[in-house]
Amino acid sequence: MESFGTVDGPGIRFVLFLQGCPLNCIYCHNPDALNPDDGELKSSDEVFEYISRFKSFIKSGGVTLSGGEPLRQPDFCRELLQKLKAHGIHTAIDTSGIMPLDSVKDCIDLADMLLLDIKAISPELCRKITGAGNENAIKTLRYCESTSKPVWIRHVVVPGYTLDESELKKTADFLARFKCVERVELLPFHKMGEYKWKELGLSYTLYDTPSPTEEDMAKARKIFSDKGLCVR
Ligand code: SF4
Repeated sequence: MESFGTVDGPGIRFVLFLQGCPLNCIYCHNPDALNPDDGELKSSDEVFEYISRFKSFIKSGGVTLSGGEPLRQPDFCRELLQKLKAHGIHTAIDTSGIMPLDSVKDCIDLADMLLLDIKAISPELCRKITGAGNENAIKTLRYCESTSKPVWIRHVVVPGYTLDESELKKTADFLARFKCVERVELLPFHKMGEYKWKELGLSYTLYDTPSPTEEDMAKARKIFSDKGLCVR
């Protein structure tokens, strides 16, 4: 739990990190959040009661359900979102979109917005990065378009993977078709989570991969802004 989050959605937000993720992204900076059997077991009542203590801090923002993959626990998310909504608290779900849409539609409907990680627009590249394709994420985005659910896209820029002009152009072209996409956040790959991979004894493939330069990021942002997208 983070009571004063400023980077996961609009305003100052309470961020709840739910344990467990079915993906295995090569750059995951929270590999300790992947195992669903770790973490603390809490009811939605307990979590809601705790969040309520911060209500005055988060009135300009709200609550973000993050992870791991929060929608891996749809029953918990649904219950908590219902409680937050009933108290007029703005909610966002930070998701990779990997969960089958039918199992999470009601959670998406309840949330005020989605922060949707599009890992890669080419399915093969997505599989290389995450171990799975992007079909569910695309379906989730199309559903948001059909229900006018505001979406902020997140996309990690990794040299040798997504830092590729044609991939970036393909991604920008695709996203520019969606009215529900209010913003695209291009996130430079960083190595801050590298030590966690070591500590967990996991094999990390990006030891020799540098972070993108400022110039790389400026070029990437221009590709998206040239398509009329609002880029951060
Ligand atoms: S979706 Fe997020 S939490 Fe899951 S493996 Fe990828 S980066 Fe890590």
